Amino acid sequence: MTDCLFCRMVAGEIPADVVSETDRTLAFRDINPQAPTHVLVIPKDHHATAGALVGADPQLLAEVVAAAHAVAVQEGLATADGPEPGYRLVANTGPAAGQTVHHLHVHVLGGRDLGWPPG
Ligand code: AMP
Ligand code: ZN
Repeated sequence: MTDCLFCRMVAGEIPADVVSETDRTLAFRDINPQAPTHVLVIPKDHHATAGALVGADPQLLAEVVAAAHAVAVQEGLATADGPEPGYRLVANTGPAAGQTVHHLHVHVLGGRDLGWPPG
């Protein structure tokens, strides 16, 4: 039994609004959306950060990014031909970035003008 929220969602112990899934990744809607599209993409295996994952299994990090792009296309934020209208991928890492769940997740944000720089 793990106390990691996202591992428990992968295990089906906590409900997730799943958008898509591959053998090794899961994409689900953020419970507190910050944009019209706000989806989290995670590796099903537990890795705390992108840095930890790239050291352990760089191919899996590539699969997470590919899954995030696929979500953006599915949500109408990009096409096979180009990055229109556009979206943002975010991986908050550590306290300065406000990471609250210590299981790597890539936020897919879009559907509004996202602005820059982020807060
Ligand atoms: P971060 O602050 O980058 O660690 O992001 C964690 C994200 O997880 C936040 O955007 C939360 O809204 C989201 N979150 C927390 N609990 C859940 C949940 N049960 N289902 C979906 N998203 C969640
Ligand atoms: Zn986990």
